[in-house]
Amino acid sequence: MDRLVEEACSRFATLGPLASRNGDFNTFRIFPFTLLPICLRRSEFDHALRLGAVLNKLTMAMASDHDFLRHSLRDTAAADKDFTGRLVALLDQSPSSPHRIDFSINRYDFFINASADPNASSNSRGLRLVELNCIAAGGLSACRLLSKLHYDIHTHPASRAAGLDMDLSSLVQTDSDGGAADSIAHAHRCFEDKYAVSNTHVIMIVIPPYQLRCEHTMVRWRAWEDHGIDIIRMTLADIVKYGTVSEDGHLQVIGFAGIDSFIVSVAYFRTGYMPEDYPTEKEWKGRRLLERSTAACCPSVAMHLVGLKKIQQVIGEDGVLEKFLNEDEAELVRTTLVQQWDASNEEAVSRALEDPDEYVLKPQREGGGNNLYREDMKEMLYSLSCEQRGAYTLMQRIHAGVMPNVLVRDGMWKAMDMHSEMEIFTSLVAVDGKVVRNESIGCSVKSKQVDVDEGGVDSGAGALSSLLLQ
Ligand code: ADP
Ligand code: MG
Repeated sequence: MDRLVEEACSRFATLGPLASRNGDFNTFRIFPFTLLPICLRRSEFDHALRLGAVLNKLTMAMASDHDFLRHSLRDTAAADKDFTGRLVALLDQSPSSPHRIDFSINRYDFFINASADPNASSNSRGLRLVELNCIAAGGLSACRLLSKLHYDIHTHPASRAAGLDMDLSSLVQTDSDGGAADSIAHAHRCFEDKYAVSNTHVIMIVIPPYQLRCEHTMVRWRAWEDHGIDIIRMTLADIVKYGTVSEDGHLQVIGFAGIDSFIVSVAYFRTGYMPEDYPTEKEWKGRRLLERSTAACCPSVAMHLVGLKKIQQVIGEDGVLEKFLNEDEAELVRTTLVQQWDASNEEAVSRALEDPDEYVLKPQREGGGNNLYREDMKEMLYSLSCEQRGAYTLMQRIHAGVMPNVLVRDGMWKAMDMHSEMEIFTSLVAVDGKVVRNESIGCSVKSKQVDVDEGGVDSGAGALSSLLLQ
């Protein structure tokens, strides 16, 4: 086993380290990973891909309905004035969707529940939606690298020697970073056609030290290699310094990155989802400029808001799915939902206090590490006023299937039981409100030890994996 783990770590390092630990070129690290792929029934995988397109339709419809967003987020915006409140206020800046290009690259996360326990009752089997990520969805290159890693090590003699060689003919080959680059190119071409302009560039909205985010680089280079598109990195503060919105609504950037002048066709956000991403008024001004312009923002502020936990709670309320989807589509989504409540709901709060293992308390934040569990959840619920609790969502705890695996972190390995989440990446492009692209562009998988609450890979407790269909 030790030799296999050593081979796996060194092979993974040659495929591409995924992040720098300290933000400099000397500290690139490989993320933790599982030695074995995660098994999933083929029918369930196909189901998840179908769900991706339906969830795209749903998120696009919700993002187009600003009154619905304002109404649903009224209390949250009031309780969280400085962030959610400011984002909601930006809705007034956006041109309504029939006059712009809508573009999103979303990620829909599901707990894999079914294949682990074939004896589970039918209503507890299947995929359960953990959340919708509608801004800066990360992990695009992870599964492509992990499929390659798993293929390589399990066809290597070290695997046979460890008694772990396996049939990998149904390992899912996925290329989400290539799919993201394809959809960026599509949105870019739609922009040039719609406005009949050619002096354009795609920009990626980032925070420094951006050169160390390998995933951003992988998407940018795929756009260059596959489509001849040079994606320029800019911060929100750069937008204010170098950009102006011209009379015809285009965001014109002057004297940036050695280019005299260009019009922004697509602004692909890889930041902007946390209050810390807006340290000064400049960043808010940059976001406002982008939103007011013709640039296809991935995402628009409206789509960003759709990804808030509060909207995911509202989706489960009576009649909401039916408002935006047809009957069959609504039913397809409903089978994946677990119950969620506004945390100002006294009945739900008392149930959560009585049975804290069965609930998760979520603030309106992204990026992992923000949710509260058990004693921490109870303490927070006791400490907040009813009005303050309106900024939180209470979610039924999902009990995912348990699968044995081997976790490798920092070169050390440990056999353990794990839970896994499958993440479906999708892209959507619409011109003047008409959808011209709606597809699943790939998937990724992350796993965590069963008794760990959160499996964020960046934050350390989670591990990357790949999918093997059965
Ligand atoms: P974030 O936007 O910060 O990533 P998520 O809602 O995706 O927040 O939650 C982060 C992690 O917390 C998930 O990846 C999952 O491991 C765990 N988690 C979230 N919701 C639940 C739930 N209802 N039941 C069990 N675990 C959950
Ligand atoms: Mg998440």
